[in-house]
Amino acid sequence: MPRPLRDELAEELAPWRAAGLHRVLWDVESPQAPHIRIDNRELLNFSSNDYLGLANDPVLKQAATDALHQFGVGAGASRFISGNLAPYRQLELALAEFKNQPAALVFGSGYAANVGTIAALVGPGDVVILDKLNHASIIDGARQSGATIRVYPHGDLAKLERILASVTTRARRVLIATESVFSMDGDLAPLAEICALKQRFGAWLLVDEAHATGLYGQNRRGLAEPLGLENQIEVTIGTLSKAFGCVGGYVAGSLELIEYLRHRARSVMYSTALPPAMVAAATAAVRFVMSPAGHARRDQLWRNVSLLKHGLAAVGIPNTSRSAIIPIIVGDETKALQLAQTLLDAGIFVPAIRYPTVPRGKARLRVTVTAVHSSDDIQTFLSALAEALRAHPGGVIEPAALSSSRA
Ligand SMILES: *Cc1c(COP(=O)(O)O)cnc(C)c1O
Repeated sequence: MPRPLRDELAEELAPWRAAGLHRVLWDVESPQAPHIRIDNRELLNFSSNDYLGLANDPVLKQAATDALHQFGVGAGASRFISGNLAPYRQLELALAEFKNQPAALVFGSGYAANVGTIAALVGPGDVVILDKLNHASIIDGARQSGATIRVYPHGDLAKLERILASVTTRARRVLIATESVFSMDGDLAPLAEICALKQRFGAWLLVDEAHATGLYGQNRRGLAEPLGLENQIEVTIGTLSKAFGCVGGYVAGSLELIEYLRHRARSVMYSTALPPAMVAAATAAVRFVMSPAGHARRDQLWRNVSLLKHGLAAVGIPNTSRSAIIPIIVGDETKALQLAQTLLDAGIFVPAIRYPTVPRGKARLRVTVTAVHSSDDIQTFLSALAEALRAHPGGVIEPAALSSSRA
């Protein structure tokens, strides 16, 4: 006879707390912005992926409000069943135009886009090759697909090449899947080299630009744009939840890819469509990112990243990040929590990221900066961080030490 569920789970939960691995939900009483309210206290927010400050933008809110009045709240069913409300077509056309691709397909989330797409494109008998630090949604898609999963150490091109050489003669389909900007380390995938390898071995490439879209390239399409690789990448994944400030995910690519996914991607086929108001807000976000104002906002983001990185170097935390994600590696889970708590006491909200989001012993403060932080906000954060590090000495591990230890 199994023990009562509650007893069983309580027993499993207790050591998580002891190991500093418990998670709490902070109730935020304000919109996402550089300044948020928690427990009636105003806090400086360095936790959000709202890189361009669009989550509470008046133009997006107006677009959502208009669509709310015209189309109501719920979508009714999957788009294949209850019909494609007008805002969806507008969003998919806008995304295809923005990404400079023939077509796009919107999913309920970036998570759903990865899971549905990967599981649709490969299956038993195929091979999917993953970077060790890929996002959970890529891993879950690979697992769900039933394809053989091969993993290379983070950014290890030699190992990727060996895997490709060993599988391409036997496997029916070979798909490499990687993030362009890694979500918890903020570093960049060697996309040009990966592209060259996949061309040489006849594999397909899926690139998840979740943290790069809106940020990189003359047209802000993502990291593949400045590298000139967009026409070589078969499948591009993106999310509407980060720089676009909304929620939802998408795939952009050929007409055939999008048509195929409409018939095979279970996470969009069997899930109710996003609310039309959110879809309209996302369209406004895409239009903003494409506009000269979006260009200026993006440039402001990079100025803020640079300010933050220089400030961190000045307090003894050199950083090699080339994105808006700046991890401060602490290592020990409890120590990361203590640092986050000290910062919280000083009015700064930064999450302590721990296992299982990152490997055990690689806990970190994950600092994200946005275009709408002021330089005062950044200075206040840097002073509080310097103070917190004095209170918890010996807490920070150099990024270089981290990458050698995880290789
Ligand atoms: C956030 C994220 C996702 C998931 O996107 P959501 O829209 O939040 O579901 C997918 N891939 C990567 C790399 C991410 O960072």
